[in-house]
Amino acid sequence: MKALVKDGPGAGLRLAEVPRPTPQVGEALIRVLRTGICGTDLHIADWDRWARQAVRTPVVVGHEFVGIVEWAPPGAELSVGTVVSGEGHLACRRCVTCTSGRPHLCPRMGALGVSRDGACAEFLPLPTENVWPHRPGVDIEVAALFDPLGNAVHAVTCFGVGGEDVLITGAGPVGLMAVAVARQVGARCVVVSEPSPRRREIAKALGATLVVDPHHESLADLCDGLLADDGFTVGLEMSGASAALDTIIAHAAPGCRVAALGLPAGGVHVDWAAAVTKMLTFQGVYGRRMFATWRTTTALLEGGLSIQPVITNRYRYTDHEVAFTAARGRTAGKVLLEWTRP
Ligand code: NAD
Repeated sequence: MKALVKDGPGAGLRLAEVPRPTPQVGEALIRVLRTGICGTDLHIADWDRWARQAVRTPVVVGHEFVGIVEWAPPGAELSVGTVVSGEGHLACRRCVTCTSGRPHLCPRMGALGVSRDGACAEFLPLPTENVWPHRPGVDIEVAALFDPLGNAVHAVTCFGVGGEDVLITGAGPVGLMAVAVARQVGARCVVVSEPSPRRREIAKALGATLVVDPHHESLADLCDGLLADDGFTVGLEMSGASAALDTIIAHAAPGCRVAALGLPAGGVHVDWAAAVTKMLTFQGVYGRRMFATWRTTTALLEGGLSIQPVITNRYRYTDHEVAFTAARGRTAGKVLLEWTRP
């Protein structure tokens, strides 16, 4: 089968012919339809500091996917032909964290496309407990994005945002999806701070009340008269930029709750005195709750959540180089690769 492989040190990925995988005990075999390109895939392709520490090579990259069950082990509640996605975090299920109901934080976590072969291939074997069967009629492209959409749902639902004034810093694919989710669950207003004009445009299309360029516009001036309190009551940090966290702290109302999903590349410097005196609450957000977040995501989509504007670029897997360049540009929304036509 064809697969997108990281061979070892050095930049780039290779489209290779590799043996079709044989599912191990407890695994299903999935014929991949679409994969999303995630920042993790870009880190691996570029072989940056994080990738050098975290990735075992050679490895087939990719963890955002939708596919069709090609084969399921006897006894699994999975039918051949079902449209599925899957949780790319593989928890050990035995440690204290897992057995206390927090498998999304398992310290022995494996990861698709990082520590074992991933989804950018024609076929993917996956433990059946990690397979998420979709309801009939699911939009195939949206189904391919259940992993990052789940990140957005996890962050937005950390705190109830119904009736709240929400500030989102960073409108990459995850921040963009968070705009739509926050709207869907009844935020009073959703303001987005994002340097890229194209991404600000997409945020507007997804229902942002106001979009702001953090480098050239004053958030305070633009929000004059917009907010119910003396600042935002919920902050969602979706950029990983230290400056963005400071923006949230500076514009937070007293008692504001902040969910932080963005991963800074280095250290962070913030106005901690302001965070203390405003009595802010910070919550780090990692991955998706298994599988509460998946159920919530499904319910939100059934309730009318739309994230289609986030998907801006689609390519055949043979055009992976162009696709990765588009994803790296940070002007696109989500970039999809097509592996098989349904
Ligand atoms: P992305 O890099 O495409 O998006 C980040 C966005 O932040 C970009 O559009 C960038 O222009 C914007 N930005 C940069 N500086 C800013 C500033 N000062 N103010 C406001 N916006 C600014 O990434 P993504 O795929 O959307 O992911 C978002 C973040 O979440 C990344 O840091 C990623 O590493 C992280 N992430 C975390 C998890 C998790 O489980 N915690 C999962 C997926 C991604």
